[in-house]
Amino acid sequence: MGLRAGADQGQPWAVRDGAVDVRYAFKSHPTFYAGVQFRSRLEATWAVFFDFVKWKWEYEPYDLLGWTPDFLVTIPCTHSECGGDHEILVEVKPYNSITQFAGHRCMDFSYGSDGKTKIPADASAAFGNNPRVTHWEMGHGAGGGIFSVSEYFPNCDHIWLVAKNITQWKHENPSVQKPLFLNDWANEEWACP
Ligand SMILES: [Zn+2]
Repeated sequence: MGLRAGADQGQPWAVRDGAVDVRYAFKSHPTFYAGVQFRSRLEATWAVFFDFVKWKWEYEPYDLLGWTPDFLVTIPCTHSECGGDHEILVEVKPYNSITQFAGHRCMDFSYGSDGKTKIPADASAAFGNNPRVTHWEMGHGAGGGIFSVSEYFPNCDHIWLVAKNITQWKHENPSVQKPLFLNDWANEEWACP
């Protein structure tokens, strides 16, 4: 079995050689926010974003067959046809493009059904590394179609930046509160696409 050449001689490069895998195996950093332990900082940042824009969220609400959505998110809707709001089941992945979600169950339930099974929500949704990498398809108003977070919030890049700074804080207490301040972006008027 062996130690790599050099390890038995105490050469630091030999130790480093074996440790690289360990260090890079853990790319997700569990992050506490609003009393919830998220599996990754990206998920926690999405929770902060939802709070900023006043979209209600629930983390890992339930299991579906073959899929455990990361969030159930409630989107307020101003159209009289829609009954007040929409619910979407969101999968979060560290992707920079929606095409990377291809084949995942979160792409299957347009309008709340994959053709065989209905989900208890208006649609499944794919949320990636930022608000510009988001996708879902649902009925809305007199019609519906494909939606993205960036359609709802033209200033989403700025909101996202603030959200990322909040989850960057190093909290040791798991009961970290929601941000105490509400800023201008959070209170900005917005409308359904
Ligand atoms: Zn609607």
